[in-house]
Amino acid sequence: MSLIYESILTCPTCGYRQKQSIPSEKLEKYFCVGCACVITISKEECCVFCVYGSHTCLVEQGWELMEIKLNKDP
Ligand SMILES: [Zn+2]
Ligand SMILES: [Zn+2]
Repeated sequence: MSLIYESILTCPTCGYRQKQSIPSEKLEKYFCVGCACVITISKEECCVFCVYGSHTCLVEQGWELMEIKLNKDP
C-alpha cells in the first residue's frame, strides 16, 4: 500500500486551493493564503485533510495499520 503525502486543501471560506504536505500527526488547523485566515475543524472531525483535503490524512490512509504490521513481523 502506498501512502499519499500531499493533499490539496480547499478553503471553506474563499475556495482557495493550496498544496500541503500531510504530517504523520493529525492537523487541526491550517493557514489559508487566499483569505489570510486560520481554518479550523470542529471537535467531531478528524483533521483538516479529512475535511478539506483532496486526500485524507495518513492515519485514515492506513498508516497506523502499517505500523502495527511492521511491529508484528520484524
Ligand atoms: Zn481562504
Ligand atoms: Zn484525518
